[in-house]
Order: sequence, then C-alpha cells, then structure tokens
Amino acid sequence: MAQIRIDHLRKDFGSFNAVKASTFTIEDGEFFMLLGPSGCGKTTTLRMMAGLEFPTSGQIYIDGEEVGQKPASQRDIAFVFQMFALYPHMNVRRNISYPLVSQGMKRAQVRAKVAEVAGILGIESILDRPVGGLSSGDRQRVALGRAIVRDPKAFFMDEPLGALDAEFREHMAEELRALHDRMGATTVYVTHDQLEAMQMGDKIVVMNHGVVEQFGVPQQIYDWPATRFVAAFIGSPAMNFLDFDGTVGKHATSVSFGGATFDIPEQLDGARGALTLGVRPEHVHLSDAARYRGRIVAAEYLGTTQIVTLDTAHGPVKARIPSHERVQVGSTTGLDLDPRKLTLFDATTGRALVSAANQGVLSHG
Ligand code: ATP
Repeated sequence: MAQIRIDHLRKDFGSFNAVKASTFTIEDGEFFMLLGPSGCGKTTTLRMMAGLEFPTSGQIYIDGEEVGQKPASQRDIAFVFQMFALYPHMNVRRNISYPLVSQGMKRAQVRAKVAEVAGILGIESILDRPVGGLSSGDRQRVALGRAIVRDPKAFFMDEPLGALDAEFREHMAEELRALHDRMGATTVYVTHDQLEAMQMGDKIVVMNHGVVEQFGVPQQIYDWPATRFVAAFIGSPAMNFLDFDGTVGKHATSVSFGGATFDIPEQLDGARGALTLGVRPEHVHLSDAARYRGRIVAAEYLGTTQIVTLDTAHGPVKARIPSHERVQVGSTTGLDLDPRKLTLFDATTGRALVSAANQGVLSHG
C-alpha cells in the first residue's frame, strides 16, 4: 500500500520534451488512470514512477520517500506489461512462485502464498498445468498472480488489456477492478481508452502532449472538463462546441449569440473575445419553441437513445434523445441547452472559464 506523489516531473529524450512538469498525487489504495492519446507521455510517466526511466527533473515520492533516481528493484512495485510474458517451460505454479523463490523464500511459505493468490484469482484448478495451453484469460490471471504474489506497495499496468477483443476486455476489466477492490493496493493504470478509464478509475489524469490537462474523479472530468481538449477526448459522442465572439460579464448567468440567449452557470470571472460554449449531447433537447435553430441532417438509432445531428449557424451539434421521439431528417427545429450543464471555454487558450458550478474541481496538475 502506498501513496505516490509526483512533483514537477519532466522527461526529455534529447531535445524532445516528452513529459512537462507533471504534478499530481495518487492516494493510498486508489485505482488511478493515466489517460491520453498515443504519444502524450503516459507510458513515460508510468515508467518514471516504476524506476524504468529516470526523470530529467522533478521528484517522485512513494510513501513520502523520494525515489526518483532509485532503480525499479529498490521501489517495491510490480509492473504488469501489455504482453503478459510467462515462462513457457514452467507450469502455472512455478510461474507464480518464481518471484518468491528468487527472493529465497522458504518452500512451505511459497506454497502457502501461491495457494492464497490462486484463491484470490480463482485459478486453483490450473496450478499444475503448463502455461502453453492456457486460454488468454487464464494467462492474464497467471501474470497477475505473479505480480500480486510479492505483496508489492503498488501495481503499475501499461494497457494490460490492449490486445484483447472487446467482449473479453470488458470482462477482464471488471475482474481487475474486483481484484483491486479485494486487495486495496494502489494501482496505476495506463490507457488511451476513455471508457476504460471512466469505468475502472477512482481518479483520472488526462494528458496531452506531455501536459497534465486535468486530474480528478471521473464525474468531475466528465461534467466539468478543465480544457476543451478534455471535453473532446472524454465522452462519446464528444461534447459539442459552439464558437462565437462575445462577452461574458463577471457573475454572468447568461450569454448571447446567434440571436439567442442561453442561461449558463454563474461565471466567476468575465471574458471577452473568442469564446466557446460546450454542451454534451445528452444536454441538448429538441423543442420547436426554442429560439436557437438547427436543421436535422442525420439520426442514428442506438436502441434506447438516438443521436441526432443538426447543422447550426455555429457548427454541427449532436443531441442524444430518447429513441421514441420522432425526428424528421431535413426539417428545422429548436435546440434547448440544459443551463446547469454548460461549460464556457476561452477559445484562444482552450481553458474552461471558472463557473460557480465547477469552482474547485478544475485542476491543471
Ligand atoms: P503510446 O500509447 O503510443 O505508447 P504514450 O502516451 O504512452 O503513447 P509515451 O510512450 O510516453 O507515450 O511517449 C511519449 C513521447 O515520447 C512519444 O512521442 C515517444 O515517441 C517519445 N519517446 C518515448 N520513449 C522514447 C525514447 N526512449 N526515446 C525517444 N523518444 C521517446
């Protein structure tokens, strides 16, 4: 069990700056997701925490001890790689016990420990099987067994489910999360999949181009994205963005453009110039009475809901509405935006303006 804190962590590869002054804290026992698109620096961040890469500058603390320049072997962590490499010539029991045997643990103790881990993972019946013929699920469980058998302070996982097909991936994600809940060990998990991050994580760091864009619990990140990048990256379909030039006053509770006025959460600071109003598809409602208009260009049936795409004067907008609502492609309708759920962004910096509703939840690391 461990708290992990990183402070202004930076990594350069030659003249390329892969991680830029990242700062965040992973609390003891958390399931913590490092999320971002390919190349954003999440693997490099994890590798620095694990001691497989050394920072160019900044600090890493595990349980208060600065470990930035210590090798992985001195950090008491377990790294679970995407390619679950098992020793092919050993059976399941020997694969799992290997880390303990190489530490010189006594045989009786090793047997007891392996039995305990096999019980946790539900693989008691395959302990004496060769690993060669195992299903991919069982291979993953064996690899996890080898990681948890040492009782490390923390688990680091880099896209561990990346190679699996969608259905099995979902199943293993649930299993991993349940395993974490039983063991309560701090887990840091790298993924580029926002659904996986939302589904599994207690907290999420969203990275882009080496920068921590936001850090918080999934609901904060979904409801109150700190940047336009986060708003677009999280959620499917992504948040809609209406770009406009205008002014929003200090303590404003509405904003006007395109001949319409939208109620918004109270803005703590004013702004003027290029602005963006962000709204998630489920907070767009179609109503003939609404003044802001759009033309329906597509409707995609998804079972209980449908995604309706509208052309507006400020760009396309997607609405997620109940599938029983009748819509006619080609017709014009009004759009009502849920006033409690709107986020305003400074279009130049891409940062969310602070509103009374999101005060305290925006974090730029
Ligand atoms: P992916 O999911 O594609 O691995 P990532 O977010 O995990 O993406 P990193 O692997 O951390 O990204 O890489 C961040 C950037 O640093 C990338 O542009 C990558 O090419 C670069 N990089 C990573 N390792 C090295 C290295 N050893 N030498 C030079 N550049 C590197």
